[in-house]
Amino acid sequence: MTAQIIDGKAIAAKVRSEVKQSVERMKVEDNYTPGLATVLVGEDPASSTYVRSKQRACEELGIRSIGYELPGDISQADLLAVVTELNNDPQINGILVQLPLPKHIDEEAILNAISIEKDVDGFHPVNIGRLAMKGRDPLFIPCTPHGCIVLLDEAGVPIKGAEAVVVGRSNIVGLPVAMLLQKRDATVTICHSRTKDLAEHLRNADIVIAAIGRTEMITGDMLKPGAAVIDVGINQKPDPTAKRGYRLVGDVDYESASEVAGAITPVPGGVGPMTIAMLMKNTLRAAEIALAKQEG
Ligand code: NAP
Repeated sequence: MTAQIIDGKAIAAKVRSEVKQSVERMKVEDNYTPGLATVLVGEDPASSTYVRSKQRACEELGIRSIGYELPGDISQADLLAVVTELNNDPQINGILVQLPLPKHIDEEAILNAISIEKDVDGFHPVNIGRLAMKGRDPLFIPCTPHGCIVLLDEAGVPIKGAEAVVVGRSNIVGLPVAMLLQKRDATVTICHSRTKDLAEHLRNADIVIAAIGRTEMITGDMLKPGAAVIDVGINQKPDPTAKRGYRLVGDVDYESASEVAGAITPVPGGVGPMTIAMLMKNTLRAAEIALAKQEG
């Protein structure tokens, strides 16, 4: 079997184009432009790159982006003051504090301070709590986990009643994606570093979400034939033929897995492009919430 390739680039482009159209409509019909504030603390090159790509996506979609670049030695109180100012600014709909923050800052306190209606990353404990509860919905779904679900839906993979195995239980990917899958009526198993026999769980899985951070750890022989495989991992694999000396690979061994799976995401070009697309969607949603409040 050769798996269907789930094209994250194309699906992300579709999401972005839908957001762009809605932003244009909002400008015309409501005379309102959504705004996203990005807060970057310090000069970590990876964080700067992430923030820049989020700002570029905003520009492309007609969303106003306001960048705060704060010194790495900013005090907790001063950073909290920035968040409070942004919470009170009616032109700002989404607040994105780029993680990780410097060690002297209490990350949880900063995330808790973001107004829940502007929490476009979806990491506020109230949002996560609602995600976990039956019959409740979060205001915002965390971007990467939401991207995984959209990829499954767009590929036509049935979630209801499926056996799903999520490998990884981090707050930003594994745990929320597992909660989303169970909300959609999948039977979910969460595996992690203490799981005794990962392959045994994987062999029963109709859906596999790999969010581990270990180069090509899941191989084709561990999968159930026909399974849908969403590879969240981004790992650097040494490659002397590549310009940088490495290439990006996932947590799944694409070559062997694509011989067994029914559908699979590549790395790069799978989950990666979805994260920013879903952030743009959340920012639009935040603007819709703000408008509804103004009118109501
Ligand atoms: P993380 O916080 O390091 O969590 C990794 C998880 O994998 C943990 O729950 C850990 O278990 C589990 N794990 C580690 N070794 C394992 C093993 N041998 N067998 C089974 N489980 C194992 O990582 P993360 O932030 O969730 O990120 C995971 C990967 O996704 C990384 O490669 C990251 O770069 C990538 N990522 C991609 C995007 C995107 O936009 N595409 C976004 C976020 C992250 P324990 O809990 O027991 O330690």
